[in-house]
Amino acid sequence: MATESQPESETERETGTGSKAETTADRNDPIITVRNLQTAFFTDKEVIRAVDGVSFDIRPSETVGIVGESGSGKSVTARSIMGLVESPGRILDGSSIRFHHTETVREFARRFPGRTVDLGALEAEHDPASLFAHSTVDATPEAFGYDDASEATVADFVATGYGEALGLDPKDCVFVTDGSTDEPVDGFVEITRLSGDPQRAMRGGRIAMVFQDPLTSLNPVYTVGNQIKEALRLHRGLSGAEATREAISLLEAVGIPDARRRVAEYPHQFSGGMRQRAVIAMALACDPEVLICDEPTTALDVTIQAQILDLLEELQDERDLGIMFITHDMGVIANISHRVNVMYAGEVVETADVEPLFADPKHPYTRGLLESIPGQQSGDRLQTIEGNVPTPNEPATYCRFAPRCPEAFADCTEVHPVSLPVEEGADDHTAACLLYPEHRSTPEAVNRHADREDSISEAGASPATDDDTTGGENR
Ligand code: SF4
Repeated sequence: MATESQPESETERETGTGSKAETTADRNDPIITVRNLQTAFFTDKEVIRAVDGVSFDIRPSETVGIVGESGSGKSVTARSIMGLVESPGRILDGSSIRFHHTETVREFARRFPGRTVDLGALEAEHDPASLFAHSTVDATPEAFGYDDASEATVADFVATGYGEALGLDPKDCVFVTDGSTDEPVDGFVEITRLSGDPQRAMRGGRIAMVFQDPLTSLNPVYTVGNQIKEALRLHRGLSGAEATREAISLLEAVGIPDARRRVAEYPHQFSGGMRQRAVIAMALACDPEVLICDEPTTALDVTIQAQILDLLEELQDERDLGIMFITHDMGVIANISHRVNVMYAGEVVETADVEPLFADPKHPYTRGLLESIPGQQSGDRLQTIEGNVPTPNEPATYCRFAPRCPEAFADCTEVHPVSLPVEEGADDHTAACLLYPEHRSTPEAVNRHADREDSISEAGASPATDDDTTGGENR
């Protein structure tokens, strides 16, 4: 479960690489845990599995970079967290996105009492050690950081998305620990189960998003100030002079000069960089805990891009913001991220802190992305990854990167690689590739992936709500 641990000291960019110096161990408990996220789009002809078994965490004061080519599932992952997946898309059963924030749990328990669960009562009912044997639990005690199953707690299972093992109704969204829904002391909100008012309270109120093109976020017929004030009215109940003062303060916070005058201007009177700053001000109006940035600098020139990245870093330091930053640009990822998830065809294929990822990339796709950065090659020709990202329209039974992989071998078209540590003890650096763990011989490594995939398939055999999906599997 999330704890109230204190934020770590401010992070600094390393002068040599421009990357962040912290390690995962230095940072706080996650504020968002994404587990086995599967988001699919149902057309007449096929089911497109845009996000297929993605897991990662976002911590306060941490920037998690999500990188990959177009079609890799980055934006659908963001929209899933925001509750913005529209028909014919849907988050499948077996997915979990949890928001761990005590104040939010207290507020939700107070506002939506019919959707709370008493975690204290669950603890009295269940023996945590026996839950490892439940058919919906594919985790081991080691995965929870324990040497022995008897060390586990019920909260571990709830917090890591194994609520079904405790008999929880999928509609339950808030969990409390002290037996009272009036004064919960801890818990989380299950975002995938939200709808209606709780969803609106979460989206924009606790998690805000900045899109690539500020013009799509700003209404051209309203002043920038009015649009910020509308967000303040909706999420913080401010109006009149108080809202105007706060709107000016937010514009100043994002570096808009002469904010008192500019608050009354329209979006077309702002430059591209200023518009993106205004959108960030709107996102901050509700004082979110997490900011999701979907290619926020792609439409900007490099000078303005650098300024926006610096601004995000300053705002993060001031507000302990957890940031999820999506881009296809490895250079931007190196600058802004603490931790990086590399996505390919709906799956996370490599995860690591930013320095090891850039210093020693393991997955052939990550290596290909890095070699494709202009200036990284010795010759005249720019390296590219031949071919295109496939559209994942059925469950993966082999490596989706195999047709483009320069290191592919026969097993790559037979066995689906799962995320495993790249070497023994390197839990913070994982790759979904049959070449790893790297101290193993290739046949041993392949067997390990196959065994792991089998156990995941068995554990995840719970049915999805639609016959035409296999949403219960975990990866
Ligand atoms: S599993 Fe095989 S095809 Fe896939 S990335 Fe690794 S080596 Fe390449």
